[in-house]
Amino acid sequence: MTGIGTQADTTAQADLREMVRDIVNRHAPPERVRECDIANMFDLALYRALGEAGLIGLDAQVGSTHGADPRNQIVVLEELAAGPTSMAVCLVVQYMGVGLLSEYGTDNQRRDVLAPLLDGRERVAFALTEPDGGTDVARVMRTRARRVEGGRWILDGAKTWISGPKHATNLIVLARTSVSETSTIDGITMFVVPTDAPGITIRELDTFAIHSFDTCEIIFDGVELDESFVLGQVDRGFRQVLGTLNGERLNAAAAALGIARGALEAAVDYGRQRQVFGRPVGSFQTGQHRLVDGAIQIEAARTLMLQAADATASGARADILSAMAKVAASDAAVAVTDAGMRLMGGSGFSKEYPMERLFRDARLYTFAPLTNEMLRNHIGEKYLGLPRSF
Ligand SMILES: Cc1cc2nc3c(=O)[nH]c(=O)nc-3n(C[C@H](O)[C@H](O)[C@H](O)COP(=O)(O)OP(=O)(O)OC[C@H]3O[C@@H](n4cnc5c(N)ncnc54)[C@H](O)[C@@H]3O)c2cc1C
Repeated sequence: MTGIGTQADTTAQADLREMVRDIVNRHAPPERVRECDIANMFDLALYRALGEAGLIGLDAQVGSTHGADPRNQIVVLEELAAGPTSMAVCLVVQYMGVGLLSEYGTDNQRRDVLAPLLDGRERVAFALTEPDGGTDVARVMRTRARRVEGGRWILDGAKTWISGPKHATNLIVLARTSVSETSTIDGITMFVVPTDAPGITIRELDTFAIHSFDTCEIIFDGVELDESFVLGQVDRGFRQVLGTLNGERLNAAAAALGIARGALEAAVDYGRQRQVFGRPVGSFQTGQHRLVDGAIQIEAARTLMLQAADATASGARADILSAMAKVAASDAAVAVTDAGMRLMGGSGFSKEYPMERLFRDARLYTFAPLTNEMLRNHIGEKYLGLPRSF
C-alpha cells in the first residue's frame, strides 16, 4: 500500500523519495521517533544526515535568487512527516528560510546565513506570530524596530509559538518599522537576527505535540542591530514574505499529507494483524470504510498539492491551490488519525504504537501556518468571488 499516488513522481522524484526513506529507515526507525517524542528531543543526528545528503538545500544555491524546486520539497516533507514528523516541521521552517534568504538576502547574508543552512550545519527560525495575534498579526504587531543615529535599529517586543529557536543560529523576525495610512501590511520589515544577540531571551513552551522540535516564546529587549541585519526592503517585509507564505502552505500540505499517510499505513498494518471474533479487525466494514474514506481524502489532497506545486514551480498563481491543498491535507490527517485510533482500540492509546503521536501531531497543520478557517475565508473570497467574510 505504501506509496499510493506516488506513481506521479518523475524518476528524479522517485529517487529522491527513496533516498529520504533510506535515511529515515537508518536514522529514525519507529523506536527512535518514539524515544525523541517522549524525551522532547530534537534528532540532531537525523538532521545532519539530511543535511549531508543535500536534502535541506536541495537544488537551491547560494548564488541563485530562487529557493529549491517546490516539487522536490514536498517529496522530502511527505516522507519525513510519515515517520519522524517533527523533522518535517523543522524542514518546513528551513525551506522557508532558504526561500527568503535566496530571494532577498544580501551577498553577506547569503554567505553567512544561507550557506550554512543549505548544507545543514545551521538552522533558522521564522518569527512572525505574537502574543496578541496570529491570524491578524499584521494589524496588531507590537514588535517594533526603531531607527536610531548611526543607521542602527533597536528591536523590542515579543514573539510566540515560534518553531525551533532553541537550536537555531538565526531568527528571521518581522517587526513594525512604520505606520502606513493605507495598509496594515505595509510598514513591516524583516530582520535576520542571531539568536545569541544581547537582549534576546528564548523560553521553551510546553506543547501538546511536535515534541521533537521546540516551540518557543522570544523576548526582544533593546536588541541593537545595524543595517546589515535588514532582510529585503525596509517597510516591505510582510509583502515580501507573502509569496513565501504560499510556499509554506504548500509545504504544510505535504507535511500533513505525510502524517495522514503514515497513520493510514499504521492502521492498515494493525487492521491486518489484530484478530477479533476470529477475524482481522480490518475486515469489519465499519473500520475498513473509515480507512477507505481516509485514503480517498489523502489522494484528493495529493492531487491538489501536486497541482499547487506545478503552479508554483511554473510561476503561475498558486495561492488558492496551495490553500486548498493545505486544508484538504490537514483535514485528511485529522480524519485518518481519528479512524486509526478507533480501529486500534486501546492500542491506539499506547505509546507502543505511533498512532497516538500522529493523532496529536496532526492537529498542528489545522491552524498553522494559517488556520483552516482563515484559508476558507480566502478561498471564499478569491475563488468563489463571495464578499469577504471577515
Ligand atoms: C507548534 C506551533 C508551531 C508554530 N510555529 C510558528 C513559527 O515557526 N512561526 C510563527 O510565526 N508562528 C508559528 N506558530 C503560530 C501559528 O502560526 C498560529 O498559532 C496560527 O497562525 C494561529 O494564530 P493564533 O494561535 O494566534 O490563533 P487566533 O488568531 O487567536 O485564532 C483563534 C481561532 O479564531 C479563528 N479565527 C480568527 N480570525 C478568524 C476569522 N476572521 N474568521 C474565522 N475564524 C477566525 C481561527 O481560525 C482560530 O480557530 C506556531 C504555532 C504552534 C502551536
